Amino acid sequence: RLIAAESKSSQEEAIERALRPKRLAEYVGQAKIREQLAIFIEAAKRRKDVLDHVLLFGPPGLGKTTLAHIVAAEMGVGLRQTSGPVLERAGDLAAILTNLEPYDVLFIDEIHRLSPVVEEILYPAMEDFQIDIMIGEGPAARSVKLDLPPFTLVGATTRAGMLTNPLRDRFGIVSRLEFYTPEELTHIVTRSAQLLSVPAESEGALEIARRSRGTPRIANRLLRRVRDYAEVKASGRITREIADQALSMLDVDHGGLDLMDRKLIAAVIDKFGGGPVGVDNLAAAIGEARDTIEDVLEPYLIQQGFLQRTPRGRVATSAIYRHLGLEAPASSGQ
Ligand code: ADP
Repeated sequence: RLIAAESKSSQEEAIERALRPKRLAEYVGQAKIREQLAIFIEAAKRRKDVLDHVLLFGPPGLGKTTLAHIVAAEMGVGLRQTSGPVLERAGDLAAILTNLEPYDVLFIDEIHRLSPVVEEILYPAMEDFQIDIMIGEGPAARSVKLDLPPFTLVGATTRAGMLTNPLRDRFGIVSRLEFYTPEELTHIVTRSAQLLSVPAESEGALEIARRSRGTPRIANRLLRRVRDYAEVKASGRITREIADQALSMLDVDHGGLDLMDRKLIAAVIDKFGGGPVGVDNLAAAIGEARDTIEDVLEPYLIQQGFLQRTPRGRVATSAIYRHLGLEAPASSGQ
């Protein structure tokens, strides 16, 4: 799967880091978030105050980690990075919190996967910059309050709805990242091509952009695969034709849907008569985790109008039948 964070090799991570914009002005798209953050950051800096906690949510690869690093760079402070599943015990988080420098950014990826005991530590830490830790055991155990340096928590999650209410309520700034337009992605592909010294025509960059599921991480990956193809099969230059041939070879269709997208759609249409079908049945039918369907696959299909989420389940729309060159049944979604 192009997008699965788990399958990222260290080499890919190094490339991602190299392509990551460092400042807000270089960050393409997400105009609303950029404008809001610019104001809040400027205000905090003028007051010499710590920036309020920020929650970023949206599908993988849209730029949440990038934004967390940018917040730290713009504030002129350090960044510590961890993730929900890594913090197993309360002590893991306490150790990180007590080692922060004043005003640092603490970035917690997959913050919806924090265990309840770790989450408990976070509440007073976020609210009062204090933690309660237990010293000793049994009847002699007592709780001690520790002061923390002021810090900004930046949390990232795929869906805001997966956070508990008390945690969500403690973020002063909550921003939802949107899929990028083909124009924005063309900009990103062109910038990445320059950084990687890959000759790419604007039509070639646009072709990659149009077929990247609205997602910068996918656009950057496809750019590298298209570059390989261009070097082996042609002069190395990325033209529209070369991009088209390479993407077709990679099973990315003209609408930008990949194999997994088509597998999901095929299941809805062939196995469940176009739906409605519940997400658990769908997960079983295609052998994918329910979370992968909800976090990775369906947000883009829904945004494109190919799939609908209804109270009774997922429904294939007439647009996806058209896209696949099929006749839509009268019962299909709009
Ligand atoms: P997330 O944390 O949401 O999964 P990342 O921040 O890791 O996504 O972004 C993945 C890659 O996409 C980054 O390495 C970066 O190169 C690129 N990227 C993301 N957002 C942007 C953007 N707004 N402008 C330019 N490149 C971006």
